Amino acid sequence: MPCKWYHVCPIKRYTDRGLLDRSWVSHYCLKEGGFRHCVRYKKEAEGAYHPDNMLPDGTIDESLDA
Ligand code: SF4
Repeated sequence: MPCKWYHVCPIKRYTDRGLLDRSWVSHYCLKEGGFRHCVRYKKEAEGAYHPDNMLPDGTIDESLDA
């Protein structure tokens, strides 16, 4: 079962546009329980700001539109 945010998450959008390697969504978003390790997920749950171009491990990818 995908992460509950998968369909609205910018990480999916970047992946669908071919801008991000699919291993990100495979490891974090689509893998059972993978979201538990996702920094984006934690930030969302806390209501804390996180830019669109923050990857699931918390690093910022400046090559992606924020
Ligand atoms: S990047 Fe994180 S918050 Fe976004 S869909 Fe994947 S697991 Fe969920």
